Amino acid sequence: HLDRIAAVDHAVHAFLHVDTERALAAAKAVDDDVAAGRPAASPLAGVPLALKDVLTMQGAPTTCGSKILENWQPPYDATVTRRLLEAGVVILGKTNMDEFAMGSSTENSAYGPTRNPWDLDRIPGGSGGGSSAALAAFEAPLAIGTDTGGSIRQPGAVTGTVGVKPTYGTVSRFGLVAFSSSLDQAGPCARTVLDAALLHEVIAGHDPLDSTSIDAPVPPVVAAVREGATGDLKGVRVGVVTEFAGDGYETGVAAAFTAAVEQLRELGAEIIEVSCPSFDLALPAYYLIAPSEASSNLARFDAMRYGLRVGDDGTRSAEEVMSLTRAAGFGAEVKRRIMLGTYALSAGYYDAYYGSAQKVRTLIMRDFDAAFAKVDVLVSPTTPTTAFKIGERTADPMAMYRADLCTIPSNLAGNAALSVPCGLSDGLPVGLQIMSPALQDHRGYRVAAAYE
Ligand code: GLN
Repeated sequence: HLDRIAAVDHAVHAFLHVDTERALAAAKAVDDDVAAGRPAASPLAGVPLALKDVLTMQGAPTTCGSKILENWQPPYDATVTRRLLEAGVVILGKTNMDEFAMGSSTENSAYGPTRNPWDLDRIPGGSGGGSSAALAAFEAPLAIGTDTGGSIRQPGAVTGTVGVKPTYGTVSRFGLVAFSSSLDQAGPCARTVLDAALLHEVIAGHDPLDSTSIDAPVPPVVAAVREGATGDLKGVRVGVVTEFAGDGYETGVAAAFTAAVEQLRELGAEIIEVSCPSFDLALPAYYLIAPSEASSNLARFDAMRYGLRVGDDGTRSAEEVMSLTRAAGFGAEVKRRIMLGTYALSAGYYDAYYGSAQKVRTLIMRDFDAAFAKVDVLVSPTTPTTAFKIGERTADPMAMYRADLCTIPSNLAGNAALSVPCGLSDGLPVGLQIMSPALQDHRGYRVAAAYE
């Protein structure tokens, strides 16, 4: 994989940082265990992985794709990183991402875009485009992403790989640089559903260091994949979300989705159409809630505690240095979100914007509850279109935001959702999204494994 990175990453730019020596030492430690007859730390011991640059790892930089954290070295490992290292996973390096995970194309990285290995003129999705592109370019067999509004599933869909957003609270957020804390969730990226499930079981589990971590057993996702692999979905009720099957979807995406639903029917699933009327409001609600939380979370980048400091020449006040640093260190999209969020949270506007968005969030949860009373899983296309051209949407934030249309409801409700490849449209990958109730992540894995 290191050779492959050396051969192709100049063109793909999936990685921001590769630590060859450390990766080789970690691999050697696993080889030494095997040679000495010691049991492997986990089924994934010795398997290389690409880590999204929003999770901390001691001894490596964590930039979040931002200039404000350029060269910043965290003093501790994220819980996800620690679990990976304890499992003997070989971390190759840190992957490119939209700055602070804000974006749907990886074009908002301060370090330049990642390119889609299927067509280098196209985006690999975002914000975790680096992780998914690394898989699609065979630079790594496993990767970690984070999904606040779709940033694991949407890149998975447009790169023809598997991406899973676990139930909120089942994977620790300790050491995951916060964007929107009530939505952020790390999860597995892989090229097969089984690989994703094996990685899922390594990273999930209760963590007292994260106050929103759920103290519940990890859903049995590997067993569910083995069950699904028999290809039998008899007795499984699959709901097709009416609101996500109409206009606004590229013809080829709609066709691939319809074919996928037919295949699920042939595998024995019962297909039921389910209406979730509030899902149409998910996008506007998300783009109030996520920027509001971001405006608060990003206040910590104050030129004093982390990273960049601009204009500290002994003549300026702390406020002036802070202002110069944030002006120079944050990119345009991050500034847009901070302004939007600050506005939405300000006195006089709070009820109208943030308060209304929270009410919509409750309506979306109720839609999911009503749907899951009738079906075991819900399905939709993961994204309305295949990978678009680099630069095509950079001048139009609304067009960029629409890439998250189908993925956002599961973040707002906190339930589990994944994307699995479902064929091609004009030679570009399409993703099938499978949504499950909270803590029932295994249902989606079972259906995905049967379908795959
Ligand atoms: N594209 C969405 C956004 O820009 C989702 C980001 C994410 O999941 N991190 O906010």
